[in-house]
Amino acid sequence: MNISEIGEFGFIERFAKRFGDLVSTDTTGIGDDCAIMPLDANHDQVVTTDLLVEEIHFIKTAITPFQLGYKALAVNLSDIAAMGAQPTGSFLSLAIPKDTEVEYLDAFMEGYYQLSKKHGVALMGGDTTRSADRLVINVCVIGKIPKGGSKLRSMARPGDVIAVTGYLGDSTAGLQMLLEKHKPDPLSQPLIDWHNQPEPAINEGLWLARQRGVHAMMDISDGIASDLKHILKSSHVSGTIELSSLPLSEALRITSAKFGWNALDLAASGGEDYHLLVTVAKNEWDRIEKEFQREFRKPLYPIGYTGSGSSEIRWRIHEKEVKLEKGEFKHF
Ligand code: ADP
Ligand code: MG
Repeated sequence: MNISEIGEFGFIERFAKRFGDLVSTDTTGIGDDCAIMPLDANHDQVVTTDLLVEEIHFIKTAITPFQLGYKALAVNLSDIAAMGAQPTGSFLSLAIPKDTEVEYLDAFMEGYYQLSKKHGVALMGGDTTRSADRLVINVCVIGKIPKGGSKLRSMARPGDVIAVTGYLGDSTAGLQMLLEKHKPDPLSQPLIDWHNQPEPAINEGLWLARQRGVHAMMDISDGIASDLKHILKSSHVSGTIELSSLPLSEALRITSAKFGWNALDLAASGGEDYHLLVTVAKNEWDRIEKEFQREFRKPLYPIGYTGSGSSEIRWRIHEKEVKLEKGEFKHF
């Protein structure tokens, strides 16, 4: 059997259980955005790692080395944000093709440094080696959180409001512009910028984790159609998403119309936006929504609600049910 038949998650499921008995009872291993383990009497430590491979995750000619260094750390910090933790240190491992310019690597490290500096994350180690032809980047980040304070994917309850912290679909629209080689204008340039240099929602994660009414939290790396399923599955709840509520940027709406893309398909199935996806107790929603707006000067966008029932997503547009097939909505 080929791995493409079962996919990334099918593969992880095949071995995760076998290793389960090696994980001690006071730690959380495979299955969330980070692993969690006790640090001291009052804190837990969280750890995450992510890999970026040239030609799979990035094309060297479409991203500057500064942006690539920034993004390599950003996608890892995003998983730290998803737990509601404060990042403290990182490890960076590189496999570098031997014809690589040192100036390219200097710019890469400068991007990595600028984001490290922004969040006070120390570079604490890593590994450097040669690669046959492609640049491979692995980052590991550790973080710290008050004991038991992590918001897990398994914490959603029936009747929660489902919400996101930012626009959906921008990153994938930026990628599509690069792949289809469209010349960006001032309106669409931010889509490409967000794809190449996303900003991890560290401060939003820290704030949301302190709210008792916030139940489950994760970051949006694969798109809500895929990511929300992880919350529903591990929390044993169902989800209903109202598509007319998905937050779409003006740049996405106008650019999609220009190139004949369906903005809702991109917003639901497109990945790499790196905003946070949360579920919030219904009776706490009004307060949390208001205070989030006051704190961050942007809305916490409600997009649906959870219910009891099987872990499926029901998609609606103006209350009418629609189906998502191969990344596209049918029947409207
Ligand atoms: P994220 O997108 O938040 O980085 P993933 O969807 O990549 O998370 O991974 C899901 C879970 O599976 C995570 O807990 C991750 O640590 C774990 N995982 C992924 N690949 C492996 C692997 N090769 N070995 C062990 N755990 C893995
Ligand atoms: Mg994640």
